[in-house]
Formats: sequence, structure tokens, C-alpha cells
Amino acid sequence: MQERIYLSPPHMSGNEMKYIQEAFDSNWIAPLGTNVDMFEEEICAYVGMEHGLALSSGTAGIHLALKYFDVGPGDYVFCSDLTFAGSCNPILYQYANPVFIDSEPETWNMSPIALEKAFEWAKKENKMPKAVIIVDLYGQSADYDALLPICEQYDVPVIEDAAEALGASYKGKKCGSFGHIGIFSFNGNKIITTSGGGMVVSNDEEAIKKMRFWATQSREPAKHYEHKEVGYNYRMSNICAGIGRGQLQALDRFIDNRKFIFQQYKDQLQELPFSFMPISDLGSPNYWLSVLTLNENVEFNPEYIINKLELLNIESRPLWKPMHLQPVFLDTPIFYHNETEYVCNQLFQYGVCLPSGSSMTNEQQSLVINTIKNIFTSVNK
Ligand SMILES: *Cc1c(COP(=O)(O)O)cnc(C)c1O
Repeated sequence: MQERIYLSPPHMSGNEMKYIQEAFDSNWIAPLGTNVDMFEEEICAYVGMEHGLALSSGTAGIHLALKYFDVGPGDYVFCSDLTFAGSCNPILYQYANPVFIDSEPETWNMSPIALEKAFEWAKKENKMPKAVIIVDLYGQSADYDALLPICEQYDVPVIEDAAEALGASYKGKKCGSFGHIGIFSFNGNKIITTSGGGMVVSNDEEAIKKMRFWATQSREPAKHYEHKEVGYNYRMSNICAGIGRGQLQALDRFIDNRKFIFQQYKDQLQELPFSFMPISDLGSPNYWLSVLTLNENVEFNPEYIINKLELLNIESRPLWKPMHLQPVFLDTPIFYHNETEYVCNQLFQYGVCLPSGSSMTNEQQSLVINTIKNIFTSVNK
């Protein structure tokens, strides 16, 4: 069988070993060190934010951000419904209550209409959230000019979950820079990886300082390890940060590769009864994943396509299963874009994520494309 074609595998640029070697040469393996400091600076410079904090995961970043906004037991936090569980699990770490917000059809990101409804409900019920987590899904920015004024009107801070969107932009400004705090993930499947890791960025120096303190076990400045607050072991290692520095240098190239892959799918599969994730002209995505949605009249479901691709050792997946449909978030309130059509549910019902890795060859992509064409022609016979 041919070599497996993954959805979004790690892609090393060749520069990573240089920084790892530097860490070895100075025996600065862990915990912190030059690579961590430089990686924070380099991400900030790229994104256009003043302060950064490198962490062991993106989820840790969301947890610290929620803690910074004093989210605790019984509090409410709004969050995009169509996302990965890492966006909202930290709400439960703080024993707070999530409230999910549906997507809009234009970008598949948080619907301003649903957000407005949620705020009206919160005001009436006296359940005003302590923060709103807005996700930039599949590498495309949410519509911040529509969303931010609503949050400002109710004076609620925004955490931008840009875990999937490093390098994407909205009206010329980079994703990760729209909230009070932005977070990135460098997990193995993301557009750049540190093997595992994350970062929070902000222009609020105090916020980053406080989160850095909590992430380092809340160690007070004393030789004997004094602790007045509960802390976490959330920092990134100097080796991982070295990988990140090498990866960041290749990010723009990776985005070009993924954009090319998306265009190929679109051009070569345009006759078939599905469409691709709409690209809003307000921004420029990083094309992290190429995602299609089947037309409603297609007689088979995403699983059928995913299984057919799997027979040829090609990995593809459904969209993120909406959070309000997850057993762990049972009975969580959800606000819809539109009462007749639940956008998230529809996307989950009809969507397939295709192999999109920046290291995928033309031959590999041709195999994916031809396999999909064959699925549709053999069904129609
Ligand atoms: C990957 C991801 C996260 C979590 O990041 P980790 O580094 O895996 O903890 C959070 N939110 C979204 C939208 C993600 O895709």
C-alpha cells in the first residue's frame, strides 16, 4: 500500500536543528532559555503584539486567560460552538459554565447575530459572561468588526482562540491580535509545530506577567520556593521553542503551499456536488485545512467519503463535532444564528476535511483528487 497521506502532518523546514543544537551546546535543554525568549519575541513581531508567553499547549493558554479574567465557579463564558474541545475545556477547569454560540454561514466563525441573542439572554437572566472566546476556524479570521463592538457594548473582554490561524489576517491585521488576549497552538497538526506547545500574546503587559507567574508554579521571588497562590507547570521547554523558531521562518512558505493545495482542490473538483469553505474577502486565511461540504441532495454522507479515502491509506475527517452535541457539555445553552437552520449542525452533517499538509506532493494530491472523482462517478453509475 502507498505511504499514508495525513490530514496535516508536521513539516520540518530544516532550520529547526540549528536552534536545538544551540540549546544542546549550552546545555540549556530545559526549562527556559534563549530559544523561549526569542520565540516569544519572534511570534510577537510576526503577529504585531507587544508581549508573548510560550506555553506547553494552546489549551493552557486559554486556561490562563480565563484565570486572568477571574473566571471562577458559577461564572459564565461564551465560546464558539464549532471548534475543538481545547477551546472550552478550560471553562470547566475553572468550574464555570460555557454558553455556546453558533456559526455564521459566511466564514463558519461565531455569528454576530447569535452572539447578540446570547448577550440579550445573559442580561435578562443576570448571567453576563466574564469573557467571550472567539475561534478563528480552520485558519480563517472571524468577522471582528461585527463581533468586537457587541462585546464592547456589554464591556466583556475577548479571548481570541487563533490556535488554527497563525499567519491569517483580517483587514490587514494578523489573527491573534484582535482580543485582549490571543492564543496560538503549536500542536503537531497545526500550521507550525513545536511537537506540542502554545503561546498567549497581548498588549497588556500586566496580563502576560500575571500569566507567566501562574504558568511557572506561582513561584514568589524567594530562594526557598514560596507560594501564595496555586500555580501550574505550563511553560514551554527550550528545545520545543527551538523547533518553533525554525518553523516560524518557514510559516509564510507553508501558507503558500496550503493555499495552493486549496486552489487545486477547488479547481479540479469544481464539477462535483459540493462546495469548499467560503473565503471571506475581508481577510486572508492561512488555509490550514481544505474543507468541503456536500450538497444536501448528495445520496451519501461524509463518512462514506472518509471510508473510501481510508481504503487508499488517505486520512480525512469530519468537521469538528459541535460542542453542544458533545456528551461532556450536555445541557449547555446554545444560541443559534437562525432558528430554522442550525449552521454548526449543518456543517458537521455535510463537511469533510481533506489532506492539507504543506509537505503533500502534487502526486499525493492528485491521488486524493482522483479518488474523490471516482467516488462520485461510481455512485452515479
Ligand atoms: C488545537 C486547538 C486548540 C488547543 O491547542 P493545544 O495546543 O492542542 O492545546 C484550541 N483551540 C483550537 C481551535 C484548536 O484547533
